[in-house]
Amino acid sequence: MKNLKDLVRPNVWNLKPYSSARDEFHGEASVFIDANENPFNTPYNRYPDPMQWELKKRIGELRGTTPDTIFIGNGSDEAIDLLIRAFCELATDNVLSIDPSYGMYEVSANVNHVGFRKVRLQSDFSLDPDTLLAQIDAQTKLIFLCSPNNPTANTLKREDIYRVLNGFEGIVVIDEAYIDFSSSPSFVPELAQHPNLVVLQTLSKAWGAAGIRLGMAFASPEIISLLNKIKYPYNVNQLTQEKALEILNREADMKEQLRNILAERSLLETTLPQVACVKELYPSDANFMLVRVEDANATYEYLVRQGIIVRNRNNVTLCEGCLRITIGTPEENTVLLKALNDMSL
Ligand SMILES: *Cc1c(COP(=O)(O)O)cnc(C)c1O
Repeated sequence: MKNLKDLVRPNVWNLKPYSSARDEFHGEASVFIDANENPFNTPYNRYPDPMQWELKKRIGELRGTTPDTIFIGNGSDEAIDLLIRAFCELATDNVLSIDPSYGMYEVSANVNHVGFRKVRLQSDFSLDPDTLLAQIDAQTKLIFLCSPNNPTANTLKREDIYRVLNGFEGIVVIDEAYIDFSSSPSFVPELAQHPNLVVLQTLSKAWGAAGIRLGMAFASPEIISLLNKIKYPYNVNQLTQEKALEILNREADMKEQLRNILAERSLLETTLPQVACVKELYPSDANFMLVRVEDANATYEYLVRQGIIVRNRNNVTLCEGCLRITIGTPEENTVLLKALNDMSL
């Protein structure tokens, strides 16, 4: 990896961040009259912990890492945006990703006027690391990989990811939004071996908490400090911090929901191929299935008329004719199967 200083935007490297009242004093006291808060209406009169230490301690326990390697944001989308803003100079630098993949990498790059390059996956949705590495130039600062990948549902091969980590001198971001549904292990335990690695996770999928907006980035303490420097001081509100801690303290509930979703995924894996309009079902390491059907637009419209909304991926690279179907409750999956079986071609 290049020196971090040579990768980061100079203005960010030299930035003196905003220092809030909660940054300057933390500890025990009986009278807090330092932040111009209303003294009534407790506890929501108080600003939340800007660094979310209690939450990071719990996340660290769950993921086997220390709080100083964790950034918490308003969804992983905040981390994606901050990474681009920390490393990429407007109208000069670029980021690289795979195609098809999660749309936010490209949108965030566009919002920040940063170049976006994408490399098509192979027809089996695997990554050719050398084709990807060949797209790097002196202005490439970040590579986004998503594994398991959305919308293709596959985990990228570990040796291909290592090839990218070892073959690129910039930052490699692995988006693990779906890692809990996968049989492959997370890259978080390998942060110490790869100083250029950033891993993204979220409470939005397996933890069932998309509504509270909480995403995480795991990386070296040096990279995490940069993100903390440029984030909004109170980027994660008090209600979200409280609810997240409550959810993370009920890991057994998440595991139980996970077992249910994985059992339903297996069921769909055996039943969907028997449906007349289904031409191909791709293996899934996530909580959704990518399904190629006879006529994706017609099937999508038919399902909408039945009150069932799936994601039409017909216009996405390598996904012509495909629908992306999230695993629902057993009842919802039954409704879906019945509707598909009743559809006249
Ligand atoms: C759903 C999803 C996320 C989650 O984003 P949040 O902002 O944390 O809700 C991140 N990455 C991918 C690839 C996703 O599919």
